[in-house]
Amino acid sequence: MKSITPDWIDKPLGELTQTHWELLCDGCGKCCMTKLQDEETDKIHYTNVACELFDSDSCRCTDYANRTSKIPDCISLSIKRPHEFAWLPTTCAYRLRFESKSLPNWHPLLTGDLHSTHEAGCSVKNRTISVEDAVPLEHHLVEWG
Ligand code: SF4
Ligand code: SF4
Repeated sequence: MKSITPDWIDKPLGELTQTHWELLCDGCGKCCMTKLQDEETDKIHYTNVACELFDSDSCRCTDYANRTSKIPDCISLSIKRPHEFAWLPTTCAYRLRFESKSLPNWHPLLTGDLHSTHEAGCSVKNRTISVEDAVPLEHHLVEWG
């Protein structure tokens, strides 16, 4: 039987094509949530407060092509800026590959199912609130599994 796992899946991030780089994203949406940084420890804490361009129903950015011009804080991940990987959630495919770890078994590249991240309960789909409803932000800290 033919494997559905792409042969490039274990390549170092720096060797991925742009297409493969985009396919590596598991679509969890966690990185689109507001984050707070502890001033004493520098630790990053996630909230369930979504970026204004994030659509919770589809768990996607509503204007991915123009995201960085519309939302200055939105980061385009790059292997050229390795320090950015540290604030990503521990389940993030880019962080895992950056740390030379395997992808979880629910990753769409392993299941062949684009919805498998949501079905595994590993995305923020339908679990977010808007910034207008999140006052104060400190009351909306979340440990995304
Ligand atoms: S946290 Fe990582 S895997 Fe999840 S949506 Fe963001 S970039 Fe993609
Ligand atoms: S602009 Fe889009 S990709 Fe960037 S954080 Fe907001 S929802 Fe996510």
